[in-house]
Amino acid sequence: MARIKAIGLFSGGLDSVLAFKVLQEQGVETIGVHFFTPFYSRPEIKDLAKKFKIDLIVVPVLDEYIEGVLKSPVCGYGKNFNPCIDCHAFMVRKAGELMPELGAEFVFTGEVLGERPFSQNSYGLRKVEELSGIQGYLLRPLSAKLLPETVPERKGWVDRARLLDIKGRGRQRQIELSKRYGIAIDPSLQPAGGCLLTDPFISKRIRAYVRRFHRQDLVIYPLIKTGRHFLVAEDTGLIIGRNRFENEVIKRYKSKGVLLESVGVPGPLGLIFGKAAQDPAVHGLCARILASYCKGQYGDDLFVNFSDGDGLGIKKEDRKRFSRYAI
Ligand code: SF4
Repeated sequence: MARIKAIGLFSGGLDSVLAFKVLQEQGVETIGVHFFTPFYSRPEIKDLAKKFKIDLIVVPVLDEYIEGVLKSPVCGYGKNFNPCIDCHAFMVRKAGELMPELGAEFVFTGEVLGERPFSQNSYGLRKVEELSGIQGYLLRPLSAKLLPETVPERKGWVDRARLLDIKGRGRQRQIELSKRYGIAIDPSLQPAGGCLLTDPFISKRIRAYVRRFHRQDLVIYPLIKTGRHFLVAEDTGLIIGRNRFENEVIKRYKSKGVLLESVGVPGPLGLIFGKAAQDPAVHGLCARILASYCKGQYGDDLFVNFSDGDGLGIKKEDRKRFSRYAI
């Protein structure tokens, strides 16, 4: 008899690994899927999946995620700019869409009832399922016994008696399970603490961009943690490198905007991006901001070059004058 196939959301956190192990133990054929955005990205995700013998598909979803989730989540945001309930629902829905193509019968996640105050309480779990559009076909193996029976359980594809009843924020049960499956707990198995949408500082920056910028400017999101950011016009930004490494990263995005560099005086690189990136008034302001981070004394004459051709001579000013543009 053909084995039942199921798609599991794989974040790289311990709970998601355990959810795979619980179902694999029951003979379910699992396929992992990781939806990639620059806000929550784990470069080592494929290695982690390999380590735990999980077949993994990585699907980039940035554009759709911003438009469909981040801009106006049905269930709102958590403490920062994190729309966790809508985010989970989106991923479950996307996984559900892959079911016919991958020949899978249901979707599962490593969610644990009561583990997160905003998204993993009874209301949050119910809402995720409702918004995902695959009601009945979403299984949470780690808390299944505390939740209504799902289709996979009713149809006998999985044995409910061998699923779990983990609840709350304590990690003891997960630690015991890890031992049973021979999983060594190390920092790489931390839960989604790395999501930039939960970061009090960076999430403000993301919020500012998401509200103002157009689809074609989404290219700057990979730079969201790089450099100092300034909003120099309603939908135009400036990024200035803080060190040599960041300058190199910024340089790689030259084709996505206008690159600025000081001539004759050591200083950082800058990148203007967005609608008014070619506007002379914006160039003037950006050159002044860049100059304020160059070496030298206030009042020194500097020259700033732009990658789209022209250049400007300016005097170095106190960078505090530009703090109101910083985001
Ligand atoms: S922490 Fe980030 S990645 Fe995780 S559910 Fe919330 S918004 Fe989505």
